[in-house]
Amino acid sequence: MPPASAEPTVAARIRACRLCAPRFAATATAHAPRPVVWFASAARLLVASQAPGARAHASGIPFSDASGVRLRDWMGVTEAEFYDRSRVAIVPMGFCFPGYDAKGADLPPPRICAATWRTEALGALPGVRLTLLVGGMAQAWHLGPGPVTARVRAWRDTWPAVVPLPHPSWRNTAWLRANPWFEAEVLPALRARIREVLDG
Ligand code: SF4
Repeated sequence: MPPASAEPTVAARIRACRLCAPRFAATATAHAPRPVVWFASAARLLVASQAPGARAHASGIPFSDASGVRLRDWMGVTEAEFYDRSRVAIVPMGFCFPGYDAKGADLPPPRICAATWRTEALGALPGVRLTLLVGGMAQAWHLGPGPVTARVRAWRDTWPAVVPLPHPSWRNTAWLRANPWFEAEVLPALRARIREVLDG
């Protein structure tokens, strides 16, 4: 039996996870699992997201796509800040790219991923002071089921520890146009709160 310090961390065990290999092999892209693991125990801000897209799957870096550009703009952080694992943890509902559905949209993350890893991964982040719930799946896991728009609109209900956000995908551009209060009210408060958490 190795000493406790030699046991692999939860991050290392997630990186080695291949539970969904048969499921991903059956998708149109027939890809292999590549868990995108981006967290460290010192993080103060948690981005609770959905799953890596195809670009993040290829790069191994979360939000290395247009969604990431928009999310960083919403947050008011630089790339260097966003990818500083000593300050920001990115823990998706599924750590691997799930593949595409028949319409070319990303499939939902396999439920087995959060069931297997999420509680343990979040338990490895004792210093988190602010959690951003990015999209409906993360919101459902952390807060229970509910519609995204109503949840984001009620952002003050969980302030200042938890902030529900829509997914920053280009697919939500129409949502942003239809809900101008999000950029006018939520984002200025969010950016100020993030500065407090990251700089405090
Ligand atoms: S999605 Fe999660 S459970 Fe499935 S292979 Fe990747 S890390 Fe493992």
